[in-house]
Amino acid sequence: MSWRADVLTLFPAMFPGTLGESLAGRALEAGTWSLKATDIREFGLGRHRAVDDTPFGGGAGMVLRPDVVDAAISSVADDRPLIFFTPRGAPLTQAKVRELADGPGVILVCGRFEGIDQRVIEARGGEEISIGDYVLSGGELPALVLLDAVVRLLPGVMGHAESGTEESFSQKLLEYPHFTRPAEWDGRAVPEVLTSGNHAAIASWRQDQAIAITKTRRPDLYAQFVATGAPAP
Ligand code: SAH
Repeated sequence: MSWRADVLTLFPAMFPGTLGESLAGRALEAGTWSLKATDIREFGLGRHRAVDDTPFGGGAGMVLRPDVVDAAISSVADDRPLIFFTPRGAPLTQAKVRELADGPGVILVCGRFEGIDQRVIEARGGEEISIGDYVLSGGELPALVLLDAVVRLLPGVMGHAESGTEESFSQKLLEYPHFTRPAEWDGRAVPEVLTSGNHAAIASWRQDQAIAITKTRRPDLYAQFVATGAPAP
């Protein structure tokens, strides 16, 4: 069975969006994964299919109603992980992406307005995920981001099996820098070791670069790398 994604959104026309192109788009056509966007408004109340209401306690904006969101979830729910997007959630990581790619699929709930009534998140035992410390206007871009990251890890989607394991974050390190032809461009030569043909020297140069870059740019990741018993630099 292929990997299945359901997205609950007020803007189903945003899907597959960017995921209809390139690697993810080809994999979608090939049936490696499937995507269904369901309009939360189908479960809206009354003649106007209302999905939101004013916040208890006052304040600006509107909140998605728990009964409406719950009905939308019921229409697709099964044993797949259920994720609610919110800036207050756990930051999305490559480890989480890998875990989801190894599972049967995912159900994603995209917030809008001020967010979703907290009771439906708790009642459903959903996981709250953030894609970064900034505020977007809805959970649709986070859904596209998460799905893009997962789909490229599904078996057969990426050209080289190893390209998923070597890159940034897979080893808790940022990736080493890349170079291609021409060997000299605009007065700049590529690092000599890369044209040496000495594979052991190249591997060790790349590892050193990855460590050095991580140490300066992301001391938080570097500390984790050291703590998990990294090979001595
Ligand atoms: N009032 C909220 C922001 C609401 S933004 C707050 O201050 O935390 C509206 C919706 O966009 C959210 O419900 C969520 O689904 C989505 N969203 C916005 N920024 C996000 C982020 N960084 N990560 C994940 N989802 C986000």
